[in-house]
Amino acid sequence: MMECVQRISSDSSLAEAILEESGQNVNLCYQCGKCAAGCPIAYEMDYKPSQLMHAIRLGMDDLVVNSKTMWLCAACETCTTRCPQEVDVAKVMDAVKITAMRRGIKPTIPEVASFYKAALSNIRMCGRMYEVGMIVALKLRTLDFFKDMGLGMKMFKKGKLKLMPSFTGARRTMKIFGRVKSIENLPRRCRPGTAGRNQTV
Ligand code: SF4
Ligand code: SF4
Repeated sequence: MMECVQRISSDSSLAEAILEESGQNVNLCYQCGKCAAGCPIAYEMDYKPSQLMHAIRLGMDDLVVNSKTMWLCAACETCTTRCPQEVDVAKVMDAVKITAMRRGIKPTIPEVASFYKAALSNIRMCGRMYEVGMIVALKLRTLDFFKDMGLGMKMFKKGKLKLMPSFTGARRTMKIFGRVKSIENLPRRCRPGTAGRNQTV
């Protein structure tokens, strides 16, 4: 009897970069569409999660890195839990963003990238999210000073926005950032916890 061997690989450089960055093998995707069917943001995306996966496999790197899809992804992980092939689609979305930035591609939704940067530097500095500081940093990045002002005032009146940061746990958070940085500098195969699912090509 003839043995059927399925080669789960492709020549996509982006697929390779995603595997390196996230450990996720997009070539396991068999286009069932369950990720797209469950995605709460799919209706806003230019390419649904399953379409993006297919485009990566086909080596359509330009289309993928210039897509809005990964920037709209809310990281809710619905796709990840639904995938019958156990591809962590949410991780793939992150890896596409990181790879696009490394390749010098401007984010297709710059406000989202600005939000990530403002939020991360805020947490690194204060140890946890300090909303007022984050809003100021975001406004300075986007130069959109009046958007959501009414909502901000409402939150402030209800005591949801604190004027001063607490710095609780700031030292510990700084250590975590330091550790993550040193892990990021390691080749992926040497990073702790990389032995997992879907890493073989
Ligand atoms: S993680 Fe992103 S792509 Fe996946 S279901 Fe949630 S919003 Fe959609
Ligand atoms: S759920 Fe998994 S196998 Fe199905 S289309 Fe999405 S990534 Fe591919």
